[in-house]
Amino acid sequence: MEDIRNLSLSQLEDFIVSNSEKKFRAGQIWQWLWQRGAGSFDEMTNLSVALRTRLAESFTFHRAEIAQEAHSRDKTSKFAFRLWDGKMVEGVLIPSNGRVTACVSSQVGCPLRCTFCATGTMGFIRNLHYSEIVDEYVLMDRRARELYDNGITNIVFMGMGEPLLNFDNVMTAIDKLTDPKGFGLSPTRITLSTAGIIKGIKALADRNFPCGLAVSLHSAEPAVREVLMPVTERNNLHNLQAALQYYYQKTGDRITFEYLLLSKVNDSLQAAEKLARYCRPFPVKINIIEYNETEDGLYHRSYPNQRESFIEYLQNCNMVVSVRQSRGRDIDAACGQLIKNQNR
Ligand code: SAH
Repeated sequence: MEDIRNLSLSQLEDFIVSNSEKKFRAGQIWQWLWQRGAGSFDEMTNLSVALRTRLAESFTFHRAEIAQEAHSRDKTSKFAFRLWDGKMVEGVLIPSNGRVTACVSSQVGCPLRCTFCATGTMGFIRNLHYSEIVDEYVLMDRRARELYDNGITNIVFMGMGEPLLNFDNVMTAIDKLTDPKGFGLSPTRITLSTAGIIKGIKALADRNFPCGLAVSLHSAEPAVREVLMPVTERNNLHNLQAALQYYYQKTGDRITFEYLLLSKVNDSLQAAEKLARYCRPFPVKINIIEYNETEDGLYHRSYPNQRESFIEYLQNCNMVVSVRQSRGRDIDAACGQLIKNQNR
């Protein structure tokens, strides 16, 4: 049986008409699915019981569910979602002065194996379907209203997985989330973060991507970045820069570079200078990220004074620099800590 959320509106209309129902019923079902975030046919209370039964006989409904949640002292909440096949992904809610940012996953596991990231150690299991990404939003939005009296205001694709390696599903999920007749979020409140998949960045440029783009750069030195992020081998820094330049030409949008400061690896002033030079072709914002140590103990966060001089160097080059406060570390909800052992 097919999942009802695989159907387009016109396929849904065909089904409705062939079942001798009025066509507008398809629109009502569509609203339940893509505007109200219903999780079952039973919730669709403006449909007759007979139609709901007919739907349940004809389609499956692969709704994700919250299997576990944890709450940090700093009010960050982490959710483990169980998917229809038992696989698990994680999402995080981060409340901060009037905003609630949801960090969503795009894949179960991740194929990229960045050496500093816990998710990388579990390998790639499968892509999320767009409806599963929407479920992360819908389920966390409900919990956000209960926990913080405020629904989700911003979404970042910074959970598990590489969004540009699940391109179509991520794009469809974003369409559903931003559709004025759907969840109606503003695209400017959504940020996609990539490890730097060149083909995907060009594809975003060509469709004039309306959301924010962040690139996990972490080093502007080829040899260093190759060790940190094996994805660099096929997506080298030089070609990445050209792709970002193309992206900027097409969209006119400033790019955010995420930069994890790792002691004695990428935090020297020479590294800062390389970074500044790398950023010359387009306007950027540098988001400095504090390293959250993972179990293997391979890397350590930079010393505060080293961090300050690194930041100061960039600021003296007139670069826009922000520092991302690490949140939710006590519940392993911080960047790079998302991993689920239940996945086999
Ligand atoms: N694959 C995408 C989306 C994941 S985003 C990407 O690479 O951008 C996850 C963010 O957390 C990335 O910026 C990543 O580099 C960062 N991160 C990974 N491990 C981390 C760790 N141990 N401490 C802090 N940040 C980490």
